[in-house]
Amino acid sequence: MNKGLLSVDEALEVLLAGARTVAEIEQVSALAASGRVLARAQASTMDVPPMDNSAMDGYAVRLADVQSPETRLRVAQRIQAGAVGKTLEPGSAARIFTGAPIPQGADAIVMQEFCAADGDAVVIRKVPKPGEWIRRAGSDVRKGDVVLSAGKRLLPQDTGLAASIGFGTLPVYRRVRLGLFFTGDELVMPGDPLPPGRIYNSNRFTLNGMATAFGCEVRDYGIVPDTLDATRDALRRAAGECDIIVTSGGVSVGDADYVKPAVEAEGSLLMWKIAMKPGRPLAFGRVGESAFIGLPGNPVSSFVTFLIFVRPFLLKTQGRSEVAPRAIDARADFDWPEPDSRREFLRVKWNLSGGLDLYSTQDSAVLTSTAWADGLADNPANHAIRKGDRVRFLPFVELYR
Ligand code: AMP
Ligand code: MG
Repeated sequence: MNKGLLSVDEALEVLLAGARTVAEIEQVSALAASGRVLARAQASTMDVPPMDNSAMDGYAVRLADVQSPETRLRVAQRIQAGAVGKTLEPGSAARIFTGAPIPQGADAIVMQEFCAADGDAVVIRKVPKPGEWIRRAGSDVRKGDVVLSAGKRLLPQDTGLAASIGFGTLPVYRRVRLGLFFTGDELVMPGDPLPPGRIYNSNRFTLNGMATAFGCEVRDYGIVPDTLDATRDALRRAAGECDIIVTSGGVSVGDADYVKPAVEAEGSLLMWKIAMKPGRPLAFGRVGESAFIGLPGNPVSSFVTFLIFVRPFLLKTQGRSEVAPRAIDARADFDWPEPDSRREFLRVKWNLSGGLDLYSTQDSAVLTSTAWADGLADNPANHAIRKGDRVRFLPFVELYR
């Protein structure tokens, strides 16, 4: 039944074998590094915290001085965060605040809730445990630890971690330049009136938005008319400026499908019919120095094929170490009695009881399904789903990482 169709995994393998990581690395401020891909592992040259310090506002004491509750000690010093105290004399306590270094000789902190200040003394109400409320030097990061691995897309907390070990700049791969154009004489931009027979260019928004979300420098060439010359011109222009060219539409076998001959004329092309739904036609090739991926025009198909094929290709080009999406084993709260003979990516939503609901129509022209859904259920070919079955769930939040 699927003769002549390529499986998703076969296509992915060929695609990924053709992806080259960008060579250029730039050193950027850690403040601007969120969303960028780290090019080299970062090892710490220091301990974090750099010194033993207090985890609480309270009093630093010597355990030997506090053998029983209600012990009264002279408060000999006051240590704020950022200050360095003196050695704690036997028989005395130090008023201390969160983050302040532990003075020499102290071996526990008593939180202030268990202390009563009394003039220049303090009554310690509770016998502390050894080391209580002391954060040890190096308990977060030890000198020499690799705290960030190469190929990670940096999150805000990663840049905070880099800053905690004193790194104000980070080496990242340069942004991938991703070119987009949209074939189809029927397309009109929203904001313009819609003449009879025409439709709005919704794919521009979906694909441009996804490329931006993945941290690309997007070159958007807009709508390209359905002629061979216009398609070739757009390709040539994009090839000089982009690492990856992604197009929508014009890859089926209709009369007005000029993507295939245009790529063949300007470069080289593999045309695939893929055993997936939505999806099916996909083009992959090269034009000059650029990789080329041609997506189908159907709005849901172009969205899904971007996530399934362009995403891993792009991630590898960006230098990401993990390109396979993390999938979750989730419970189907729906029946899917008549599966397709192709692998399906169903639009599903995570419900409040932790199961998945199915959008009422899985038609590949119904973009509403993608806005409603929280992700895709990856259903093998010919595989019926019954309520309660486990399915492979690809949440959008994971796909967008
Ligand atoms: P094609 O792949 O060019 O044969 O297009 C398949 C279907 O997707 C047709 O119904 C097109 O009108 C529609 N389509 C193509 N490009 C877009 C686009 N940029 N935005 C919305 N729909 C599109
Ligand atoms: Mg078309």
